[in-house]
Amino acid sequence: MKNKIILLVVFLFFGSFFLSGLNQASQEGSSKYDVVIKDGKVFDGSLNPAFKADIAVKDGIIVKIAKSIREPAAKVISAKGLYVSPGFIDLHTHVDRGMYFPENRACLNYLKQGVTTVIVGQCGSSAWPVFEKAGDLIKVWSEEGIGPNAALLIGHGTVRQLVLGMEDREPTTEELEQMKALVQEAMEQGAYGLSTGLIYLPGRYAKTDEVIELVKVIAPYGGIYHTHIRNERDKLVDAVKEAIEISVESGAPVHISHFKVMGKPNWGLVKDACAVVEEARANGIKVTADQYPYRFANGYPYQSLIPGSVWRGEEDPRGLTSEDIEVIFDHLRDSQLIELYKKVSPYIPISAHHQEFLDALPRKQLVRLVGRTLISPGNFRGTGSPRERMLFLKRMNNTEEADEIRKKIREHIDNLVGPDKFIVGICVERNLEGKSLAQVAAMKGKSIEDTAIELELMGARCIPLQMHEDDIEYIMKKNYVGTGSDGTAPFYGIGLIHIRSYSTFLHKIKKYALSRKTVSLSHVIRSQTSFPAQVMNWDDRGWIKEGYKADIAVLDIKNIKLKTSISNPHAYSEGVKYLLINGELVLDNGNYTGKLPGKVIKLKEK
Ligand SMILES: [Zn+2]
Repeated sequence: MKNKIILLVVFLFFGSFFLSGLNQASQEGSSKYDVVIKDGKVFDGSLNPAFKADIAVKDGIIVKIAKSIREPAAKVISAKGLYVSPGFIDLHTHVDRGMYFPENRACLNYLKQGVTTVIVGQCGSSAWPVFEKAGDLIKVWSEEGIGPNAALLIGHGTVRQLVLGMEDREPTTEELEQMKALVQEAMEQGAYGLSTGLIYLPGRYAKTDEVIELVKVIAPYGGIYHTHIRNERDKLVDAVKEAIEISVESGAPVHISHFKVMGKPNWGLVKDACAVVEEARANGIKVTADQYPYRFANGYPYQSLIPGSVWRGEEDPRGLTSEDIEVIFDHLRDSQLIELYKKVSPYIPISAHHQEFLDALPRKQLVRLVGRTLISPGNFRGTGSPRERMLFLKRMNNTEEADEIRKKIREHIDNLVGPDKFIVGICVERNLEGKSLAQVAAMKGKSIEDTAIELELMGARCIPLQMHEDDIEYIMKKNYVGTGSDGTAPFYGIGLIHIRSYSTFLHKIKKYALSRKTVSLSHVIRSQTSFPAQVMNWDDRGWIKEGYKADIAVLDIKNIKLKTSISNPHAYSEGVKYLLINGELVLDNGNYTGKLPGKVIKLKEK
């Protein structure tokens, strides 16, 4: 009897355990899908209107799209009243610099906009520091994880700097071969193409032929040439022609970054530029472009109302220069310079490649690198410099000189954008924020010139609206133009930056599809999903289609909230309720889940 009781107890204990195990197994087995998104209206990436459907995801892939999916899933998302879209693909970002640091791997400012993939290494500046290799960065990002998927470009400027330093000359045959070898190495390691920044240093020093030779290296891989063209002002059309020539001569497709024209005298030139692109496309040349939907430019969008030469005058034309700083550091031995550099370098610990790079740097370049890393001449310039204020005010006390200064300030403002399009961004007098220079002048009852001087002296940060709305909309309507934010992954709250880093994708939907109705909602969705995928030659992302990667955004389009303003550039956008990257939930009811499921998309593997 006693034994029977023991047996019964044993049976009950293990039996129930066994049964519960079975039960659990059957539950797992019955979760046919990882995620099902139910009752949403689906934009699939095409220009078609949204349709009602359920979507099932398993092992990172969209496995079923149907009117109704009833099988159980580990996670069911109700998208009732919401829109479902492919995750957004950002054709042009500089987030790699921020993502380099573990704190910013998630790129939360982009996840909150619905971005699931970023193309980095833009404007001639590689996604990795000059001393690193593409393969090293890809290894770290793959092992430690990243928020959005990323495809890397190698920067022409970075390559040129490694081989020629900052010298303004053509490369020798040998140097060109070295540059080609570096581009090829990056392509072998998984880079997706080459980028140029032909207005920046040292990219500006490169002639068309040099770029053609380097793009020829990426062409056989199926690489794509992304370019910040040589001129976005009066010579826009020539610059577009050069980009097309590079594509024709090299055999690689060309993608024009942040397509626009800046400056009042040049507004309207985009029509001629688009005509050139369209003629090339009609001839079978692969030319595409991207755009950010704002009227102001630059990562740091603020500009002085008083040009530097007018502010400093002839008495003190340049103030402290980089050359002065080099003189200071030229007294130190190489080893001392490297030790100083290591104390402030953000790249810690110094990698083997980094150390090799430092050791191999010619003396002059080492002095320059260390000097510019430690001291910025800009710290001693501008309205924050008591010395420069005093010199400026002294000149203003001379009536003749003051009139000359006023005249030059007015010319500067008129040539740039005019007083009605120069906006006060941040100001100690908060009531002026958001007002134009012309409005502030009227409020204060002063001339434009004297208002500009007053604002400048009180440290106001002003933003010139350098692009015209008509031009933005003209470009946006084109079917060969995608979305590229040109933003960064900043430390949250740190630094004054362009609001595009936080709001590009939802702003484009809200302003241009919903409010102004410049383009349809499906046009905007296509421009930031299937179209960029087509530019990058991807046939497994950018669409809501069975068999495609489950990069999916669930959008509450009626409740998009853009919280940035030009006086407060750091604020996460609202409107993305759920976001899946490679099938993993990264935003759950708008909240970040802490996951880093992004993959580095390598060209070589394809
Ligand atoms: Zn650029």
